[in-house]
Amino acid sequence: MAMLFALTILFLSEGCTQNNEVKETRFMMGTLVEFVVIEEDKDKALQAIQQAAVTMQKLSDELTIYGEQANTVKAFNQSVANTPYDFPQAINDLLKQALEIDQQSRHAFSPSLGSLSLLWGFSDDIPPTHPPSTVSIEKLQQHSLQCLRFEQHWQRSNADCQLDLGGIAKGFIIDRGIDVLKQHGVGNAMINAGGDIRMLGTHGDRLWNIGIRHPRKAGQVIAKLSLSGDHSIVTSGDYERFFIDHGKRYHHILDPATGWPATASQSSTVMAPNAMLADAWSTALFVLGAKGIPLLEQVKIEGMVVDANGNIHATRRFKQYLQLSD
Ligand code: AMP
Ligand code: MG
Repeated sequence: MAMLFALTILFLSEGCTQNNEVKETRFMMGTLVEFVVIEEDKDKALQAIQQAAVTMQKLSDELTIYGEQANTVKAFNQSVANTPYDFPQAINDLLKQALEIDQQSRHAFSPSLGSLSLLWGFSDDIPPTHPPSTVSIEKLQQHSLQCLRFEQHWQRSNADCQLDLGGIAKGFIIDRGIDVLKQHGVGNAMINAGGDIRMLGTHGDRLWNIGIRHPRKAGQVIAKLSLSGDHSIVTSGDYERFFIDHGKRYHHILDPATGWPATASQSSTVMAPNAMLADAWSTALFVLGAKGIPLLEQVKIEGMVVDANGNIHATRRFKQYLQLSD
């Protein structure tokens, strides 16, 4: 019965440190967030990072369904069902995008699994060691499916229909952090939130080197990418938050169609124009497994999945970026 937390993507900081590299690490969103900025003016870089971190922490507090602090997402989850509810503009936009990906992914990604997530308890302070009862899962699964509506205002169709933005929020928050860095004139940077990455420009005179963790070999990399420019790479894995009960692995990415942990994949990695898209689609791809690859091609997003047997499937363009390990 092991509960493990692991970084999904490694930023491979190979070779010597750049002279003008400024690195800061903060703990937020339940993970270590690393900021790397390539900038000669160290004070400017530190100020940009500090502002980005403040913005990101605020958003994290606003979007989480955990902890005691009140926020608008928790208020919605406690509001009377079938009653119109308005979110602040930024959250409204995020929710609309989440709902769109819910539809595009054929409901593999679902932002309304909150009551199921709380039932499973993978993000609780004391992690679970056994699955909840089948009866309780079935009830909440039925009430969580396509239960969120937007027609000028937001509505949830029943009291068990609850938002959980855990599959998309980290990416959205990274994007807002990158916005702040850009506003400070930073052009070469990376934000790595526990393996969810967005990068800008170059790593000094080198490319950004990214390693995708092997889902079954701890500390090993299954594939590498070397990139420059504005890219986001996010991995979802069944090794991030899990327990083993009676020899079976139970993890934090749920199949909305069953209410149980999704079984098609060991890990999924998505590269998209922004971290929000990469985050949501990596969760969707994890649930879909290999059959999600043609769907990704359709929506013009790149990615790869390690299926339940450990085989790799990737979109055509993503294969061109990948350097596979043996
Ligand atoms: P990620 O690690 O980005 O794949 O997201 C996993 C987190 O998203 C979980 O901890 C839940 O909060 C939430 N989640 C779990 N399953 C799903 C799903 N099928 N669709 C959307 N969010 C999910
Ligand atoms: Mg995700």
